[in-house]
Amino acid sequence: MAHFVGAIDQGTTSTRFMIFDRAGREIARHQLEHRQILPAAGRVEHDATEIWENTLKTIGVALSGAGLVAADLAAIGITNQRESVLVWDRETGEPCHNVIVWQDTRTDALVAKLDADLIREKTGLPPATYFSATKIQWLLENVDGLRDRASRGEVLFGTMDSWLIWNLTGGRHLTDVTNASRTMLMNLETLDWDPDLLRLFGIPREMLPSIRSSAEVYGTADTVLPGVPIAAAIGDQQAALFGQTCFAPGEAKCTYGTGGFLLMNTGSTPVRSSHGLITTVGYRFGDAPATYALEGSIAAAGAAIQWLRDQLGVLDSAAESETLAASVDDSAGVCFVPAFSGLYAPYWRPDARAAIVGLSRFHTAAHITRAALEAICYQTRDVVEAMAQDSGTTLDCLQVDGGVTANALCMQLQADILGVPVSRPAVAETTALGAAYAAGLAVGFWHSVDDLRANWHEDRRWQPSWSPERRDEGITRWKAAIDRTLGWVS
Ligand code: ADP
Repeated sequence: MAHFVGAIDQGTTSTRFMIFDRAGREIARHQLEHRQILPAAGRVEHDATEIWENTLKTIGVALSGAGLVAADLAAIGITNQRESVLVWDRETGEPCHNVIVWQDTRTDALVAKLDADLIREKTGLPPATYFSATKIQWLLENVDGLRDRASRGEVLFGTMDSWLIWNLTGGRHLTDVTNASRTMLMNLETLDWDPDLLRLFGIPREMLPSIRSSAEVYGTADTVLPGVPIAAAIGDQQAALFGQTCFAPGEAKCTYGTGGFLLMNTGSTPVRSSHGLITTVGYRFGDAPATYALEGSIAAAGAAIQWLRDQLGVLDSAAESETLAASVDDSAGVCFVPAFSGLYAPYWRPDARAAIVGLSRFHTAAHITRAALEAICYQTRDVVEAMAQDSGTTLDCLQVDGGVTANALCMQLQADILGVPVSRPAVAETTALGAAYAAGLAVGFWHSVDDLRANWHEDRRWQPSWSPERRDEGITRWKAAIDRTLGWVS
């Protein structure tokens, strides 16, 4: 009998395979980073073949490290960076181009022409370079011969879940409803591709995967794990909502990875935002009605730390951001708005670009690093405020997860800046856990969401310590810094 469930977490910076037991405890993991290909300002790409090879390696190493074989897995689930776009050859499986990553802004001119009301009405999304549709359009218009090949049905489009499922099953082409809801091509009411939008973006229906629920058996992973059902696919942020067991309306979590993403479960009705949030599908179990979510997406959270490490070279590791920032009492008036890819929620300003303001000769890399951590928290506060206005519910505690939550100083600043406690669960890898949970539910490894709730345990809680005056002062300075980033790109 199989005692474990596996999860492939294909993230923006790395791909990992994790194995969990019935109590939701981590049994094994292996993780490999892939290259961030930055061919020009505003362009961010990944090599899809590298990602697939990393997926194979991580599965192999995690399994053998734990002394397990395929038959020990009741199922696997897949979770993935959302919106990033790949087109590949239906016959050979060769990618036609690198993956265009969600952060890529090369399509800003295409986005500027879109009818915002129409797009929001149909998809729940504000037009932005973030989503997939204009990226596919760009590929069809810019890769030699691709449009003809697409209309002859020779090439396929997919987000990373589709790419992995296609490779794992040896050729099934499908996606799940959470991933599809981020393409800007899916109608939020019908949960199917919208014919008007396909026409608008000039995307042939033949190249799109079929849309399935987030938790059902799509096939078996025969190319890698013979006989093991692939029983879930779910976008990374929705998976984290699942992994944090936010199954009731009003329950919310914030994940801090490359970007930052606050999602609140809103139950079986899509709640339309009037404060700059996204309406999205939270998850769908088999034939059950879809559960929707409100989402506040932040383009750059951990990405600000990556930038300090990789582009400026002031940090040797992401973890060093904590010690360096802790070496000063505060940012001494410096504000860092990491709007490298424009500002997402609640501003949706593709014309914004990053800025570090308030510098004098006194300031050091420590102040700038501290300001980067604060920026992660102020951006989250902006989204929490919008969420309260849209949902009428105020959070009495923020449930957090993701790579940045390893930074205790950042989480303390988050509690200080929000004025509410911040709570991190024992399993911080909620994204992978959520995919495993969805897959395990689909095959009966777990029987109900109550089994999963019983697995959730708090690891650490941070209490707010700032006075309201200090908080207000910080927010005022942050808003002034935001103003300075707007209108930079015409
Ligand atoms: P993703 O799923 O987007 O790849 P992860 O959840 O793996 O993201 O988190 C990776 C991000 O977290 C990177 O941007 C990295 O800079 C950031 N990060 C990791 N450790 C720390 C730390 N100790 N302090 C601040 N940021 C960190």
